[in-house]
Amino acid sequence: SRLAPASTVTSICGYCATGCQLKLHLNEAGEAINLSPQANYPVNLGMACPKGWQALDPLAAPDRGTTPLLRDPATGERRPIDWATAVDLFTSKLQGIQDKHGRDSAAFLSTGQIPFEEMAFLGLLWKSGMGFLHGDANTRQCMATAVTAYKQSFGFDAPPYTYADFEESDVIVLSGSNLCIAHPILWQRIMRNRRMPEIIVIDPRSTETAQAATVHVPLKPKGDLALYYALAHCIIRDGRIDPEAITHTEGYDEFAAFVRDYTPESVAERTGLEPATVEKLARLVSEPGKRVSWWWTMGINQSYEGVRAAQAMINLALITGNIGKPGTGANSITGQCNAMGSRLFSNTTSLVGGHDFANPEHRQKVADGLGIPAERIPSEASLAYDEILHAAEQGKIKALWIVATNPFHSWIDSGRLAALRDKLEFLVVQDMYHSTESAAVADLYLPAAGWGEKSGCLINSERRIATIKPVRKAPGQTLTDFRIFRLLAEAWGCGEMFADWTDPESAFRILRDLTKDRPCDITAIKGYEQLDQAGGIQWPFPRSGDSQSPLSSPESSPIDKVANHSLFTRHSALGTPSERRLFADGHYYTPSGRARILYSAPDELPEAPDAKFPFMLLTGRGTSSQWHTQTRTSKSDILQKLYPAEAYIEIHPRDAKRLGVLNNQTVTIRSRRGEMKASAYLAPTVQPGQLFLPMHYPEVNKLTHPSFDPHSRQPNYKASAVTISPS
Ligand code: SF4
Repeated sequence: SRLAPASTVTSICGYCATGCQLKLHLNEAGEAINLSPQANYPVNLGMACPKGWQALDPLAAPDRGTTPLLRDPATGERRPIDWATAVDLFTSKLQGIQDKHGRDSAAFLSTGQIPFEEMAFLGLLWKSGMGFLHGDANTRQCMATAVTAYKQSFGFDAPPYTYADFEESDVIVLSGSNLCIAHPILWQRIMRNRRMPEIIVIDPRSTETAQAATVHVPLKPKGDLALYYALAHCIIRDGRIDPEAITHTEGYDEFAAFVRDYTPESVAERTGLEPATVEKLARLVSEPGKRVSWWWTMGINQSYEGVRAAQAMINLALITGNIGKPGTGANSITGQCNAMGSRLFSNTTSLVGGHDFANPEHRQKVADGLGIPAERIPSEASLAYDEILHAAEQGKIKALWIVATNPFHSWIDSGRLAALRDKLEFLVVQDMYHSTESAAVADLYLPAAGWGEKSGCLINSERRIATIKPVRKAPGQTLTDFRIFRLLAEAWGCGEMFADWTDPESAFRILRDLTKDRPCDITAIKGYEQLDQAGGIQWPFPRSGDSQSPLSSPESSPIDKVANHSLFTRHSALGTPSERRLFADGHYYTPSGRARILYSAPDELPEAPDAKFPFMLLTGRGTSSQWHTQTRTSKSDILQKLYPAEAYIEIHPRDAKRLGVLNNQTVTIRSRRGEMKASAYLAPTVQPGQLFLPMHYPEVNKLTHPSFDPHSRQPNYKASAVTISPS
């Protein structure tokens, strides 16, 4: 029939880190005309959320860039230029800045939204090709805390779980995670759990997830660290630890002494919870014979003490023996589609391939793999995102190259970026759209292809590597990021370094080989075709692991095994490479092989409510139909219909009554940094004294307080003091 597709290809969704596989249906010309979720993919099992279903819509938006644009600094007007002029301008400006001010005078800000082959190209081009020092990714805004927590505790950034653990747990603890709307397919995985699990949600808000849970623990904002220490206190006091599991840890005795003071009574003020609630929770998460899994997202990560809070959950999993077994784990759920790829390959915090910049052997190994002298790999760590922006405010960083991210909307205390813009000598923004808040103020805008217009690999939350495919032609003169990096490398004079990076798959093979002997070793992956046939492959997948691999099994093809979910589940219990969890052998990546139990006393809130700003502002995802700054999702009429176009704020009815605020009335929210208007939504989803704003509206971060976790430098988006009044 006329409506039947000519062919179909598979591709991983390019929004969140769940990593659903989609089937893209193509016409005779090879262009996608429609899509549907893949039924036999081991992640989404035939499901997709609204964003995935509408993933093709943003490609056809009228504000797609079609040519490079040059902005007149005097008038702000932009005019189209050709690629040769754009590349010339890029290299001459940046070379001039480097010659005059040194290699720490410019920085890139990249993303968790592009394939890791492109991330690695950018990071290596910038640091080893062009010779600059600083670059960070927007994963600093979502995953830096989990990265640091895992590195410190386990010796490597290694989320230990597999999604089958959702279905195999007896007790599922979700902390600071509105899974129902932020990762709706993962919530469906919980719904498939046949063990009648206890689902415990620890969250100040009565979120969609809290309302669907069996237990909601409505603690005070940022009371989590004290709560986890009180849980550890009760568990140790009652002898509900796992003595064998503790032999695989360091620091247990000191930790036991530390939590002795954290009685349920002592944390009541900080957590807002009755001691009996804490006691009951402690029993639930340490029930002998029960499989307990701990899961967290941004409510933990985006905090001024997120690393210690994440580690407090890791500690609870370690001392109760809930790690390395089916249905267990201390599990960070990633945000962006390729945040996990960024963690291994962006060459920002860690040297590409899971290495350390400070380690001379690592630098030599990576240099050998890339065919360059080791001296071209910096030994110093880059400044973190906030430090880069601070250096730009001080005039030390003169130029920024922003790739596929939108900090003028998303960065904390975003009002400061307007002033920072004027300090920069040169701002380049490379993005699908010329209309983002960041692209609109760039000196030079470079039009980039998006998801659906290029190939490469993404890594999802459970460490599964899988491919995306081009299914549409990018508009006008738009190029893939990969192609832009190649052009710039040639123009800079370092093209030879990337002579073998002819396309994303050749880059994949080079990067794959760099992972050899690291915990993330994927040297047994032959190429994209194998990834497609296997239904994605979770790292590690080293060459020596081939004998265990279902891919080498003669009885059934990998896709058959993927299709048979019960077989998959059995494999996961065995820890085979097809669906594998880490630490089943009790061995961690630290020098001693034991996990470190790390802790420190909770700190005071950086900005507590007071008489002038009496409300605590919480921010977060508002819906499953919108993504971050709405750069792409605002282009879909269907997704827009599922969510209010104008900002709204949740306020408790009791507070609203006291302030004379009516439902749907326009209110003004003010912080010490800025103000915005929103429509009041009266709902007991927030507690009295608290307000909730979805992060998708551009004004929200004018309010947020710029404080950061000292270990991870992740911004603390979810605790700012504000006031609210009728407009
Ligand atoms: Fe799946 Fe996430 Fe894409 Fe939705 S946005 S379809 S949950 S990968």
